[in-house]
Amino acid sequence: MRNFDVIIIGAGAAGMMCGAVAGAQGRSVLLIDSAISAGEKIRISGGGRCNFTNLHCGPHNFISKNKHFCKSALAGYTPADFIDLVKSYKIKFHEKEKGQLFCDESANQIIGMLRSECKNAGNQFKFETEVLDIKKDGDGFIVTTSKASWRCKKLVVATGGPSIPKMGATGYGYKVAAQFGLNIIEPVPALVPLSFTDGFKADLKELAGTSLDVQVKHGKTIFEDALLFTHRGISGPAILQISTYWQAGDEISIDLVAGTDILARLKQARTESPKQSPAVFLSQFMPRNLADFLVKDIAQKRLADINDKTLNRLSENINHWQLKPAGSEGFRTAEVTRGGVDTKELSSKTFEARSVPGLYFIGEVVDVTGHLGGHNFQWAWASGYACGYACGITL
Ligand SMILES: Cc1cc2nc3c(=O)[nH]c(=O)nc-3n(C[C@H](O)[C@H](O)[C@H](O)COP(=O)(O)OP(=O)(O)OC[C@H]3O[C@@H](n4cnc5c(N)ncnc54)[C@H](O)[C@@H]3O)c2cc1C
Repeated sequence: MRNFDVIIIGAGAAGMMCGAVAGAQGRSVLLIDSAISAGEKIRISGGGRCNFTNLHCGPHNFISKNKHFCKSALAGYTPADFIDLVKSYKIKFHEKEKGQLFCDESANQIIGMLRSECKNAGNQFKFETEVLDIKKDGDGFIVTTSKASWRCKKLVVATGGPSIPKMGATGYGYKVAAQFGLNIIEPVPALVPLSFTDGFKADLKELAGTSLDVQVKHGKTIFEDALLFTHRGISGPAILQISTYWQAGDEISIDLVAGTDILARLKQARTESPKQSPAVFLSQFMPRNLADFLVKDIAQKRLADINDKTLNRLSENINHWQLKPAGSEGFRTAEVTRGGVDTKELSSKTFEARSVPGLYFIGEVVDVTGHLGGHNFQWAWASGYACGYACGITL
């Protein structure tokens, strides 16, 4: 049976980074993946352009039962480190907005870069290979697959989360964690479109295609981002962001004018331009068709004719639109998974399981979930780097 220093299950974002770093330190590394090639999620990410990091990425962009867990890895491998790597491969990129960096051309360039890093570090890949069994064997592991069995000193689980199962995503990493008695924080879909009742969808149908920047709130969490009205209700980055915090039965609140005190502005306008129609006034702050929609029952009036009670009601609907989503679209369309291997089981410096020496978990399979905007890849690079480095320096 062939021996490797390190076997990594999952040749995705975190797995390839880990393999390249461990291999560069002279370790023999095998990456096993059930898919036909490496980094399938990278390929489809960012609309095919891969939002590969975020200039402002920091611990505040992550959710985990232990909010401190991500700090060490994020500090050890920063967006600037990944940008240097991207630049060294002459991959052109741009900042779209809010620090989000995308390839100018194609996400395939990021996959090509990581594959080259792995190749230069002497990593081997086995694709279309199912892991059938993992056994502890002395101070190492025996990994039995559909192709062969291999032995390793260190076993890294980098299988990601179960989002987008039609791409072959699985919850396999949780199975390995459970086999070795590690706790798992319940995995739930995150960065996922929320769904709404048929009545809600019918009411908003005429607004489909309209978009604007809003503030969306869930408890104390607030995101300012774009909201899009669609034939399925509402969507867009603002809704994806808040979905990570939302739980079934919760309400969310939307401020359609992102922090402007619209009641004060309406009252001021009623004094200063009393003949103005409410829709014309509101269209300074939002698309005209949305303004028309919101003032349907007072459309014929002038601001001077609208009493305080009506202005209060209108302002409440604009600044504090309360919604109760019916559900989410689930793992079928979720970008990531919230929850996963409990961080209290792992070292935040090496990602080694505290109770199983030689066993590591990195990337999305761990209970660390990033906001939308390149943070999830930064987590994959940072956790992969920390683990690869740790596997490289000790055997
Ligand atoms: C549509 C979409 C768009 C996204 N866009 C972005 C973006 O632009 N920016 C961003 O930061 N994040 C984005 N993400 C999230 C990002 O893709 C993930 O957070 C990231 O890929 C996680 O890296 P990972 O290495 O942990 O897992 P993955 O990259 O998912 O890699 C896991 C690997 O494990 C393999 N695997 C799974 N089960 C097994 C098994 N049983 N045996 C062997 N191999 C297995 C898989 O085939 C895969 O290759 C997007 C996600 C989706 C779904």
